[in-house]
Amino acid sequence: MSTIRQIEPDVHGGPPPNLVDYDEGRERFSWEQARATLDGLPGGRGLNIAHEAVVRHVEHGRGDVVALRWRGRDGTARDITYRELDEESGRFANALAALGVEPGDVVVTLLGRVPQLYATVIGTLRHRAVLSPLLSVFGPEPIRQRIDLAAARVLVTTPSLYRRRIAPMRDELSSLRHVILVGEGDVPAGAVAWDAVVGAAEPVHRIPPTRPDDLALLHFTSGTTGLPKGAMHVHEAVVAHGATGSMVLDLRPGDVYWCTADPGWVTGTSYGIVAPLVHGVTSVIDEGDFEAGRWYELLERERVDVWYTAPTAVRMLMKAGPEPRAGRDLSALRLVASVGEPLHPEAVLWGEEVLGLPIRDNWWQTETGGIMVANYRCLPVRPGSMGRPLPGIEAVLLARDEHGEVVLDAAGEPVTVTEPDREGELALRAGWPSMFRGYLGQPERYARCFAGPWYRTGDLARRDADGWFWFAGRADDVIKSAGHLIGPTEVEQALLAHPAVTDAGVIGVPDPVAGEVVKAFVSLAAGFEPSDELRLELIGFARTRLGPAVAPRALAFDQHLPTTRSGKIMRRVLKARELGLSEGDLSTLESGGPDQEVAR
Ligand code: ATP
Ligand code: MG
Repeated sequence: MSTIRQIEPDVHGGPPPNLVDYDEGRERFSWEQARATLDGLPGGRGLNIAHEAVVRHVEHGRGDVVALRWRGRDGTARDITYRELDEESGRFANALAALGVEPGDVVVTLLGRVPQLYATVIGTLRHRAVLSPLLSVFGPEPIRQRIDLAAARVLVTTPSLYRRRIAPMRDELSSLRHVILVGEGDVPAGAVAWDAVVGAAEPVHRIPPTRPDDLALLHFTSGTTGLPKGAMHVHEAVVAHGATGSMVLDLRPGDVYWCTADPGWVTGTSYGIVAPLVHGVTSVIDEGDFEAGRWYELLERERVDVWYTAPTAVRMLMKAGPEPRAGRDLSALRLVASVGEPLHPEAVLWGEEVLGLPIRDNWWQTETGGIMVANYRCLPVRPGSMGRPLPGIEAVLLARDEHGEVVLDAAGEPVTVTEPDREGELALRAGWPSMFRGYLGQPERYARCFAGPWYRTGDLARRDADGWFWFAGRADDVIKSAGHLIGPTEVEQALLAHPAVTDAGVIGVPDPVAGEVVKAFVSLAAGFEPSDELRLELIGFARTRLGPAVAPRALAFDQHLPTTRSGKIMRRVLKARELGLSEGDLSTLESGGPDQEVAR
């Protein structure tokens, strides 16, 4: 069993309540109370994300606090205060109104981390239009698909991205009425310059009445398991962003916070934009790409207090070794959290050794809109576990039959797995504020996500006797070998425990005897070379940890495992390649799209 570390609970006042004791905290917490820590629109005119994130701080005299500490790729730096963000987003909202954009219309962004992105996000929400961020590295086809599906009216992008990706197919984008171009470059016919429409608009903007269930955000999933789905989120989600920003990320006034997620994904919006702004903290916005030395330098120079990153980034830092870390003062760090994929126990311990803090894994999905299960700040960290359900969240494991269907009892109610350490499908009692309200254009698919009162996550997990949850894999990825059900995560984590392995992806390949056998693909750390001896050693290593039934039968070396742009291993692509099948939708594949350089 893994070691359990008690991190002393850290008691600071202020709502949402500091949850020192897990059960007591759950009793004390309610979503109504979390809602009450927000202001709401003045005069009882409802709840709007933009008001809670920006306007309210200015009204409470915090306008001079730096909201965004922007650090450009070319070394330029700019601090943007809450007041400036209020004004620029007010301009954007007024510009939308002047263009005739209606509340409910979809505004798509295709932008890197430029300052105007943040004004666009907040301005769109102020206007009650719906924001849908796309990854700036998407090629034309994924852009077209998503703009079509969303029937988007407005696109905000750069002249260079427009020329390369949009112009050649502009005629096909029949829903688009307005294209706003940010930054230097030619403004072709059919587009307008940011400075001309937004720069010229009035900064003063009053947010219209907004219902908590008005649509606010449309987020496409990562596409790890198939075609990305468009998850619809509402303004009320801000209640969860606020509460989890405090409970999980421990955001406090005066903090410097850095979220490394791309703003084209849900993490980059919920926790890269909304949650830190709601808490009035200063976010470091780093326009550049991953580079171990630069990242350590940034943590030191900006004196980052709270850092939210992903296992893939952690593994890259681990791979980079001690040299780039040497001599850096990281003493400002108070909390480091990770999301997106399983965080293997060695990574948690590496955090403790190298960053001075264990890395706190947490689990959520595009659909849940916010963090649901976490090693949150007042809980001891169990390395390898994704933590416990947050106060306000009820999580169970549903029993599944061999076809993956939820098992029902005689009364037709879903059966839950109650014994410790047994696997089931992770399910959450529907009804938390940031829960998605549908998959755009796919009502049946949405309906299939529910079993009685439970939202089915499609992920498998175990709960230990003390209530900590352990991720076991995605239901779609389960390998059936000689009567055993094997989750790839378990096998991947066993391989990652070997010093030679920096990344691992595990799939089932057809086998006439066993049905399927486990095959692993691994990337090697610097100083290790592929060889038959190493292959045997790794298989043997996994076998001692997992037993022969679960350990990989075959192992291949691959320094470039297919991952999504959000850093998730695409096992379906490994499998398609292995079997010589079509690789399916590759729009979110890391190396699949146009290069980073053109995204500026
Ligand atoms: P798609 O739904 O299109 O296949 P996706 O599920 O990867 O893509 P996201 O919503 O970005 O899209 O990712 C959520 C998923 O990521 C979760 O359902 C889970 O499988 C995985 N995940 C997130 N956090 C963790 C974590 N801490 N540990 C293990 N897995 C995680
Ligand atoms: Mg998913």
